Amino acid sequence: MADLKPVGRFAPTPSGRMHLGNVFAALIAWLSVRSRDGEMVLRMEDLDTQRTSADFADILRNDLAWLGLDYDRETAPQSQRSHVYDRYFEILREKGLIYPCYCTRSQLHSVNAPHLSDGTYVYTGTCRGLKEPPKNRVPAWRVMVNDKVWTVEDKVQGHYELNLATQCGDMVMRRADGVYVYQLAVTVDDGEAGVTEVVRGMDLLSSAPRQMYLQELFGFPHPEYGHVPMLLAPDGRRLSKRDRDLDLEELRKRITPEGLIGTLAFASGLIDRNESVSARELATEFTWDKLKGDSIYLDGSKLL
Ligand SMILES: [Zn+2]
Repeated sequence: MADLKPVGRFAPTPSGRMHLGNVFAALIAWLSVRSRDGEMVLRMEDLDTQRTSADFADILRNDLAWLGLDYDRETAPQSQRSHVYDRYFEILREKGLIYPCYCTRSQLHSVNAPHLSDGTYVYTGTCRGLKEPPKNRVPAWRVMVNDKVWTVEDKVQGHYELNLATQCGDMVMRRADGVYVYQLAVTVDDGEAGVTEVVRGMDLLSSAPRQMYLQELFGFPHPEYGHVPMLLAPDGRRLSKRDRDLDLEELRKRITPEGLIGTLAFASGLIDRNESVSARELATEFTWDKLKGDSIYLDGSKLL
């Protein structure tokens, strides 16, 4: 199957301007696919309708165009696909894997619940097989997970593994307010769009096994994964959305797209000298093994 063209994707959340970290992940996703003459898909991850807007979606498209990161098609935004997610939710229900969870937020985060080093908790299955559900309470719906170690051979991070039963627990698929969760929506959207390669920030690495489990239940093939390093300030602090001066609204006033891409490419090991370069030029020489696997330090003040 090696001669099939790769299909990658941009999946931004239209809740604000692209930040340097988003630009970097988008650049690598695009380079990986375009360097092999593959296809790019765009979709807006706007499940959180309170925080997202069509205006920000327009700005994101404009920012991608400014960066020279083009795409071949845009699929429907997640906010318009709950009827599709309904169908996949029913697949889980028909398999007997779905059950209602009445736990309150404080129960879930209580000191009795096991917590992992990243601050997330392991759901211990409190509501599995609940005999008498509380009255007048609307439940969330969880999918049972299996006791199996899922392994990811990541293009950047290498071997990664997670046992969903012991390190995650049964996952919420639909919240009490009826909104489907990120893991279900992403799995369905990537699967239906024929995405073969998921490239995104390292902070989402632990989502990969969660999504692989759902891919298996829904009958989608597993894509390849590449979780790119986080960008850090010289003092080791993670560059975050709080650094307003490093979002594209400010950066576009001060630097050319080639200047910005050159800076990111140099900091991440893709080129040997800090010089302006277009995404298109970089694509001719891109290989994954050039990319640094550990944190990337970037002095944002030099961009301003
Ligand atoms: Zn529960």
